[in-house]
Amino acid sequence: MNNFLFKLSFLSTNAGIFRHFSVSAARNANYSCKLLVVGGGSGGCTMAAKFARRLKKDSVIVLEPSSDHYYQPLFTLVGAGVTSVAATRRSARSVLPSAAQWVQDSAESIHPKENVVKTTGGHTINYEYLIVAVGLVNDYAKVPGLTEALKDRNSGVSTIYSSDYCEKTWSDFKNFKGGEAVFTYPDTPIKCPGAPQKIAYMADSYFTKTNVRSKSNITYNTCLPVIFGVKKYADALMKVVERKKIKVNYKTVLKEVRPDKKEAVFYNVDDRSKESTQAYSLLHVTPPMRPPRVLLAGGAALADAAGFLTVDKFSLQHTTYPNIFGIGDCTDTPNSKTAAAIAKQAAVVEHNLQTAMGGGGGRRAYDGYGACPLVTSYHTCVLAEFLYDGVPHETFPINQARESMMAYYMKRDLFPFIYWNFMLKGHYNGPEFIRKIINPFAK
Ligand code: FAD
Repeated sequence: MNNFLFKLSFLSTNAGIFRHFSVSAARNANYSCKLLVVGGGSGGCTMAAKFARRLKKDSVIVLEPSSDHYYQPLFTLVGAGVTSVAATRRSARSVLPSAAQWVQDSAESIHPKENVVKTTGGHTINYEYLIVAVGLVNDYAKVPGLTEALKDRNSGVSTIYSSDYCEKTWSDFKNFKGGEAVFTYPDTPIKCPGAPQKIAYMADSYFTKTNVRSKSNITYNTCLPVIFGVKKYADALMKVVERKKIKVNYKTVLKEVRPDKKEAVFYNVDDRSKESTQAYSLLHVTPPMRPPRVLLAGGAALADAAGFLTVDKFSLQHTTYPNIFGIGDCTDTPNSKTAAAIAKQAAVVEHNLQTAMGGGGGRRAYDGYGACPLVTSYHTCVLAEFLYDGVPHETFPINQARESMMAYYMKRDLFPFIYWNFMLKGHYNGPEFIRKIINPFAK
C-alpha cells in the first residue's frame, strides 16, 4: 500500500460482520485497481457493491467526495413535511461496500486512452475498467437571481432538488397565507421528471388542509408540451390537475428570479423573445441540471456536447471505449432518470462488464425501464412504470394509472427500505421478479 496512504479502519458490527475500508488523507498518491467507480451515489454505490463481491478484495476503488449519501426520492416528501432531511441521509462510510477502497476525492479529469483518472486532490488512479456514475448537478447559475433567492430564508423560493433547500419548501408551505404559488420545470434533462408536479399536488393538498387554498392560485410552468411523457399516465394526471384546479402553462421556462420584487420571468420555448412575468408568494423551482464538468475535462470524446456520457443505450457500454460503462443520471440514454432505472441498469452493467472482463455469458440489454411514483396527495399516488419510448410496463395486475393508497405507502416506506437494504448492497435489480410472480401472464 502506498506510503502516503493513511489507512483508517472502521470497525462496526453490521449484521455481525466487521466493516473495514480505507480513506486517503494524503496528496499525490498513486493508486491502481481493476475497477474504478467514479461517483458513489445510487448507481456507483450499487455497482461497487456488486463488483466488490465478485472481485478480490481491494480490486475496486470508489472515488466519491461526499461524506453523506442521500436517498433523494424522499426529498419530495421532505418538502411536503412528511419526513425530515435527516431521515434521507446516511454516512457514505456506512453504505459503501467494505471490500472496496473509498478514495474521498473528486475526479478532475478522465484520460480514457491512458486508463487514468486524475483527482482534484492531486491523486492519480490507474484502472483497467471504469464505471462512470457522477449523476447530475443543479445549475442554479443559469437562472439569474435564483442562487440569491434560495439562500434568503424569507424569499419564499425553494427547491426539493437539493438537500440544502428541501426543508425550506416545507417552511414555505407553512408560511404561505394565500396568493400565487408558482412551480417550474426547466428546459434541460432532469432527474425524476415527475417531482416538479408532485410537489405542486402536495402544495394543493396542504393548502386545502390549512384553509388557504381558496385564496390562492397554483400555477405549474413546464417546458414540456404535455403534463407527462407517457400518455397513459398523462391522461390520469390531467384529471388530477383539473380536480385540483392547477393552471398549467406549457412550453414555459423560468428565465430569471427577482426576489426583491417577488417576480419570476419566463420565456416561451417556441419563441424565446415572448416573455411573461409572474408575481409569486411562493416559488418552487426545479433548477436546470447538467452532468458534472469532469466528463468534458479530459480532452477525450467521453461525452456529448451537453456533457452526458455517451453509452450504447442497450448495453450501457461507452460508444468509444469498451472498458468504460455508465450508469444513472449522467449518461445520454433516453430513459427517465430515476433510482428505479438504476436498479435495472445495474443488472445490465454487472453482466456486460463481467463479459468485458472475460467472464463470458454474452450481453444483456437495458430496456429503458424507469418508474415514477407520482404522489397526488398525502395518501394517494400514481405509480408510473414504463420502458423506452414511453411503453407502460407495470408490476401489479391493476391499473397503476389510478391513484392508490398502496402506491403512496410504497413510495413513503417500502422503496426507501429496498434502497438502503437491498439496492445499495447490490441485491436489487428492479421489480421484474415480483412482476413475474404476481403477474406471470403479462407480456
Ligand atoms: P447520484 O446519486 O446523484 O450520485 C452521483 C455521485 O457522484 C454523487 O455522490 C456525487 O458526489 C458524485 N460525484 C459528482 N461529481 C463527481 C466527481 N467529479 N468525481 C467523483 N464523484 C463525483 N428516483 C426514483 O426512482 N423515484 C423517485 O420518486 C424519485 N424522486 C426524486 C425526487 C427528487 C426531488 C430527486 C432530487 C430525485 C428523485 N429521484 C427519484 C431520482 C434519483 O434520486 C436519481 O435518479 C438517482 O439518485 C441518481 O443516481 P446517480 O448515481 O446517477 O447520481
